[in-house]
Amino acid sequence: MAAAIYLDNNATTPVAPEVFEAMVPWLRDEYGNPSSAYALGRRAAAALAEARERVAALVGCHPESLLFTSCGTESINTAILSCLALDPDRRHIITSAVEHSATIKLCEFLAQRGYEITWLPVDSRGRLDPGACAAAIHEETALVSLLWANNETGVLFPIEEIAAITAAKKIPLHVDAVQAVGKLPLNFDSLGAQFLSLSGHKLHAPKGVAALAVSRKIRFSPLLRGSQEEGRRGGTQNVASIVGMGVAATLAAETSHHERIRDLRDRLEQCALRDIPGAEVNGDTEHRLPNTTSLAFDGIESEGALVLLDRSGLYCSAGSACTTGSIHPSHVLRAMGYSNERARASLRFSLSRLTTEADINRACQILPEAVARLRALRPTGSPVVAAAPAAP
Ligand code: PLP
Repeated sequence: MAAAIYLDNNATTPVAPEVFEAMVPWLRDEYGNPSSAYALGRRAAAALAEARERVAALVGCHPESLLFTSCGTESINTAILSCLALDPDRRHIITSAVEHSATIKLCEFLAQRGYEITWLPVDSRGRLDPGACAAAIHEETALVSLLWANNETGVLFPIEEIAAITAAKKIPLHVDAVQAVGKLPLNFDSLGAQFLSLSGHKLHAPKGVAALAVSRKIRFSPLLRGSQEEGRRGGTQNVASIVGMGVAATLAAETSHHERIRDLRDRLEQCALRDIPGAEVNGDTEHRLPNTTSLAFDGIESEGALVLLDRSGLYCSAGSACTTGSIHPSHVLRAMGYSNERARASLRFSLSRLTTEADINRACQILPEAVARLRALRPTGSPVVAAAPAAP
């Protein structure tokens, strides 16, 4: 049987062979606790320091700005809750309607406890108006927390413009850069944001390791209290995974693969648009991650499509992984004004450094066949053309 074609890298990425190799000694022989003073512990501490430098180089921050965490979700919760803890009189948060569930669920929880949440809208191409963010800021605003790159559509928010607005109004900005890090050049220190979240498993490191960049110029309140990470994130560090994330960061910093990934993504997209009648791209194609395409195929149901594609060995996603399996259409596509039908007729394909030309050639064959089969199976009378976006 042919090897699977993995086009769901925004959900998670395979661990790169170099990352795996670098981790092995830290799982097998080098079991020291980095807080221990003897040689075994000191070697683990030195490995953490090297990984911190590698990740800092990727995101353009001072190594001391970085805290290692367990996942992007923890980094996001830490950033938001730190701002609220340090400024308890400010009970207003600005975020967007298309955030990852890590932000949405926390903000919904905070709303139940009396916090005011502004959910900034996006337009029909998934774009955010920085002016709307500026207008939403008031004297009780504790922070602005926004995605840099959307995990479902790849659409980029104008984070530099937002950072200029929040800096002028002296409001902390947290950037969820979990999908952006390793796919776009970025520099935390010159951006002017106070927090930036990233996650190892989106860049070929294992799951369960991540980081939060925290500006050294602001006060910080830890989520997990303890002595590690200079008291800013308690808990013995996951040394092997952090070493792996360091190596993954260095690999991701080699930008030479970005163009190749973009070319392969564009080929897949063009083949779908050419060979599948009525296929359409969801979201802005101009300001977008190079590895992602979200496509709508009218007259199909993404749940059925995933089953059929899975049987052909093609892995992709219907919206974000966290909502896959639920019957709810993607909140991102709904926020862009698309109908439930269109949202349910959409599939996300996301590539990585490890995606090959052969993968894309196969996907270009499999996808049109699968969509044609699904359309042929459609009961007569169901709509052929999905509804157009309701929003401007
Ligand atoms: N933010 C975005 C944009 C994501 O895509 C994800 C994961 O899919 C997360 C946050 C959460 O990261 P983690 O899975 O490491 O908790």
